[in-house]
Amino acid sequence: MTIREALQAKSRRILAFGLAAWLALVVSLVLAAPRGLTVPALVCLLCFFAAALAQSFFVRCPRCRGNVGLLVAQTLAPGRLRTHVRRCPFCGVSFDEHA
Ligand SMILES: [Zn+2]
Repeated sequence: MTIREALQAKSRRILAFGLAAWLALVVSLVLAAPRGLTVPALVCLLCFFAAALAQSFFVRCPRCRGNVGLLVAQTLAPGRLRTHVRRCPFCGVSFDEHA
């Protein structure tokens, strides 16, 4: 498994959790519309923010421990938003090397 594959797998898990939390938040807000922000909606909101923080701070280069979470998230973006990254911006290790 290459560094790129490992980083993208970790990011996919975090982003899937964040998307699920966001969808659950929308559903819980729609179902509880007259009451406003309920406890389940608040829990979903906290899970969404936890996923955002995890992606921002806990996806790190395995060689230098540099924070590459947002960069890796951009490599998973759809269409024209996607960027291609070949090396770690901190230590220069190729993401195609084996982890
Ligand atoms: Zn690095």
